[in-house]
Amino acid sequence: MTDMDDRIGYIGLHIESGLFKAAFTDAGGEILEIDEREASMESISEILGTVIDIIAELKQKASHHGRAVSGVGIGVPGMVNWKTQRVEFAPDLPVIEGLQLSEEVRDRLAVPVVMENAVRLAAYGEYRCGIGRSAPNLVYVHLGTSVGAGLIIEGAIYRGALGFAGQLGHMTVDPDGLECRCGNVGCLETIASGPNLVRRTRERLFRDRSSSLSSLALPGRGELTPERIAMEALDGDDFSLMMLEQTGRWVGVAIANLLNLLNLDMVILSGGVMVAGDVFLKPVVAEAENRARWLPKEGCRIVNSPLGGQAALIGGAMLARDLQRNGNVR
Ligand SMILES: [Zn+2]
Repeated sequence: MTDMDDRIGYIGLHIESGLFKAAFTDAGGEILEIDEREASMESISEILGTVIDIIAELKQKASHHGRAVSGVGIGVPGMVNWKTQRVEFAPDLPVIEGLQLSEEVRDRLAVPVVMENAVRLAAYGEYRCGIGRSAPNLVYVHLGTSVGAGLIIEGAIYRGALGFAGQLGHMTVDPDGLECRCGNVGCLETIASGPNLVRRTRERLFRDRSSSLSSLALPGRGELTPERIAMEALDGDDFSLMMLEQTGRWVGVAIANLLNLLNLDMVILSGGVMVAGDVFLKPVVAEAENRARWLPKEGCRIVNSPLGGQAALIGGAMLARDLQRNGNVR
């Protein structure tokens, strides 16, 4: 850290469905201020207005710390064309397709902005400031509404030819499986995304009423969520345990494919189902090790994301910092 670093900081911002989260960090990624707000997302102009409000307020707060905001990194649930900085495809939040924040925010607030896929930023956050600091080859997997992955290869974000790398959810794990919303069949997402875990659980609950979740299988009896299934498994419900073990095995199959292809130092898992911690990790690790046999077991750690929901915020701030340090200010 230089003396200069004491007078600056960075903003990481994460746009999720209906929710904006942001953090102001110092140059080392330590969070100094945090902002979280629910806001309407009917149109791109509405989203832009909220983003500008949040950044303007955090700039104010930064000045109370005697710091200026030197850059902003914004994570979105979609595929961002890295060169044009435009959201090309966002099935989980279609309203942001076509969103291009960088120029507009820079013009209004005089601060450089970079936009990137949020899971990729989470990978970068864990790599720069979290559990992945000594793991230059890592994959960060998010099991949410979609299943996505952020890849760090040899210490840099891997984006691929057009910037769309990381579609782990659309890796085929069952050639005879169910149809996926992408048009393929047997994608990992048809089994392991949050909505598909809930769907599979609900379907089986109609046949097996012994579970503590049974009442939730019926419409209008409370919400069945990945977090709820994970909690019941932690409480020892056999049925929930079985659902997590099955799901974990499929995730393990996909991870084994990654390990065999990329010889990773670390795989970091996140998402609602990770509330179950080791109960979910165990079958993932067992299956991955079993299918990546020739790799030394001690060569790769498969872990829960310790930074969790803050990973993308810290990653956004650190990506903005590193682009600036490397002279790639947009
Ligand atoms: Zn698919």
